[in-house]
Amino acid sequence: MDEQAAWSIAEPTRNKHSARSCDPNNAIGLGGAYVLQLQGIAVSPGVAIGETLVIDSEGFRIPRRFVVRDAVEDELERLDRAIELTGSQIDENRQAVARELGDQYAGIFSAHLQMLRDPHLREELEEMIRDRHYSPEYAVSRTMRRYVKVFEALENSYLSQRAHDIIDIEKRLLRHLLGHRREELSQLTSPVLVLAHDLTPSETANLDRRFVQGFVTELGGPGSHTAIVAEGLGIPAVVGTGPFLTDVSGGEVVIIDGDQGLVILRPDEETIARYRHEAEEHRSLAARLESLRDLPAETADGVPLQILGNIEFPYEVEQCAQRGADGIGLYRTEFLYLGAKIEPTEEIHYEAYAAVLREVRDGPVVIRTLDLGADKMNWEPDSREEKNPFLGVRSIRLSLRDLPLFRTQLRAILRASTLGNARVMFPMVSTVKELRQARMVLADMMEDLEDEGVNFNRDIPIGMMVEVPSAVLTLDDFLGEVDFVSIGTNDLVQYTLAVDRTNKDVVSLYSPAQPAVLRLIEMVLQTCEQRNVPVNLCGQMSGSTTYTMLLLGMGLRNFSVTPSAIPEIKKICRSVTMSQCREVAEHALSLESADEIKHYLRQELRAVCPELYV
Ligand code: PEP
Ligand code: MG
Repeated sequence: MDEQAAWSIAEPTRNKHSARSCDPNNAIGLGGAYVLQLQGIAVSPGVAIGETLVIDSEGFRIPRRFVVRDAVEDELERLDRAIELTGSQIDENRQAVARELGDQYAGIFSAHLQMLRDPHLREELEEMIRDRHYSPEYAVSRTMRRYVKVFEALENSYLSQRAHDIIDIEKRLLRHLLGHRREELSQLTSPVLVLAHDLTPSETANLDRRFVQGFVTELGGPGSHTAIVAEGLGIPAVVGTGPFLTDVSGGEVVIIDGDQGLVILRPDEETIARYRHEAEEHRSLAARLESLRDLPAETADGVPLQILGNIEFPYEVEQCAQRGADGIGLYRTEFLYLGAKIEPTEEIHYEAYAAVLREVRDGPVVIRTLDLGADKMNWEPDSREEKNPFLGVRSIRLSLRDLPLFRTQLRAILRASTLGNARVMFPMVSTVKELRQARMVLADMMEDLEDEGVNFNRDIPIGMMVEVPSAVLTLDDFLGEVDFVSIGTNDLVQYTLAVDRTNKDVVSLYSPAQPAVLRLIEMVLQTCEQRNVPVNLCGQMSGSTTYTMLLLGMGLRNFSVTPSAIPEIKKICRSVTMSQCREVAEHALSLESADEIKHYLRQELRAVCPELYV
């Protein structure tokens, strides 16, 4: 989770854990003799092997597609049209620049035209379409990327810069070729591994689960919502690799190692066989852990615990139930808005909450009010762009500013509250005033429903997320006004260390093992215990096996985790005693750095549950 992105080339037989960093360009011309290995940030575990779907920064999708023999002439015509249109466009640019700035500045466009109209390029493309039956898009992408690599490898920096010109021409050609034929990620028809420059949380949320078997993004940090959704989908994912898309074409086979944060391009047979074996081990571990499903969540010495699931969509309730969750500890309702074509109405909210409550029946369902803004879309179409969206109008701040939005949601939650054990939770509360304002709006909605004669649970438990340091430091002031709290470490890490959870370049700081974060968590647990207020931890930390013993030792009894993590967390809980965990916590909290703490915790994990040590 805390690794830096780096490139490496590994010999096929080299153990994947010993990859060395070096320049990706060194791979050129190796003709597949070496496995190209890319280090990113592991955000969702598992191994996926398969054909890629490449989506570059402009969102082009370039699958390896074949054309039937009869269509070859038509496809060549389509290619020629695209070359012609691209040529006229470049020529227009050339003339405009020459007019405005003079011929010397228009020279670059003449060079582009020369490259585009180079008969060798045309011949090569025709050969790929005619003889190998590739689609023009795929032929263009593959050929131009090969040229890019050759140029990038040149020592002369002027010539190596020309790689950008080729990329530019490739994009122009693809724009003409794909044009209206650009397909949506949500309309896939065969299994793929998605490789993209970046995916927004809403794009990730809309990935077709039947076909997307893993993804890699050049950007993105460990705490991004894109990463969280990947875990929710239960597919291996690696983010923050840095640039690599020019080195891969759609349809190539790659391996995504979501445990180590590795992406293997052009794997050889031996590497594929090794990873197939690893994927098999994952499956057999998951099968063995299935037997825990109906056993209670408790420590080996019988201390009762609660392991709840985090969900973004109602369909995930089933995954939680299948894994033996005790309920839903965090329902991120903002995902109702991501990818929605129309603004969700009260009925849409109600149906979603009702579906979850009906399915969970007895267990608690913590419905968190909207946490829109920041890296998740801001629903308001006319909202101003913010310089620091994580410090701006996000979450409860947005709800309190947009009362119709907030009221709609609260009414729906209240109406659904009669269907099960519903709880409502406010996110990102940073002052007592905000909590009181949110409670007032809730009380207003209760009065409205009462006047209308609509049934709801007047005693619905009300909670808040503790994810901003100010809330930790003044927690005592809040506790008289809430029924429960939930610690959000994803944000607590970011706000404590001033480190953007979505930025791969500061990933080495983004860790819940940072001593400052651990001390804040300890403060929350102790204050809640003194005041007898139930506390849960629903950040990603809670679903990471590294931290289970530490959190138990620090006094946490309620975990809310991504559904796929439930069996492993339960397994650890049932394997350890409280005194063991207290000792681990005491030692970990005495250490000075996140690295030392993580290293120590992983050693302890290995001692108690070697099969869960990756
Ligand atoms: C958190 O911040 O830990 C949390 C659970 O909320 P989110 O990840 O949705 O911001
Ligand atoms: Mg949060």
